Amino acid sequence: MKAKIFIIIGVVIAIPFIAVIGLIVIMSSVIGAVSIGGGSDGSNDSGYLFRDLPFLADYYTCTSDFGSRSNPTGQGIVYHQGIDLVAFKKDGTKAVDIVSVFDGVVVNVTEASSGSGAGNSLEVFDEVTGLYVRYMHMALKPNFNMNDNVKKGDVLGIQGTTGNSTGIHLHFEMHIQDGENKILVNPRDWFDFPKQGEYRQIDNNENKEQEENNEESKRD
Ligand SMILES: [Zn+2]
Repeated sequence: MKAKIFIIIGVVIAIPFIAVIGLIVIMSSVIGAVSIGGGSDGSNDSGYLFRDLPFLADYYTCTSDFGSRSNPTGQGIVYHQGIDLVAFKKDGTKAVDIVSVFDGVVVNVTEASSGSGAGNSLEVFDEVTGLYVRYMHMALKPNFNMNDNVKKGDVLGIQGTTGNSTGIHLHFEMHIQDGENKILVNPRDWFDFPKQGEYRQIDNNENKEQEENNEESKRD
């Protein structure tokens, strides 16, 4: 009889004790996994507002940065108001889809046939963030009108070299609305784009990204 009571008391004391130890083990493994995951891939904690890229492709690079540069199609020094990106598929094709980096409304459309230096271009405004993105030099006449709504990931056109351009690329230009003023900003403040001449692989597909992460952890 006494023995039974001792066993019952023992079990009553042991259950919360085991539960607490179990919780500590689970918590520490979770915290450990999170810190390992964050450490192995710096892009997870990049701190940039946007992670989605403006094209569907396999690789991309930067060919000309935002800021002062020598005029590529004329003389002297000019201020490059955007960043030039070139995206391509594994087979080298540069005729890749240009996609919207955020939900917004079309606020500017230009056509190469009208002689615009921007070539075939679209500008999309996101009223939530107050940001504008202009996509220039696209291959075909934009299939959008002013005030059209676009969703993040919608195809806006095909990477091209229309207007004032020396080769197939995307001129990606950003502004921000500040009260009455529309102010030019450096896209690098919002996107983790590669350095000039640095090539990066693109993962447009979450599953593909997951597979590659698994491959990486196997190699480790
Ligand atoms: Zn440019």
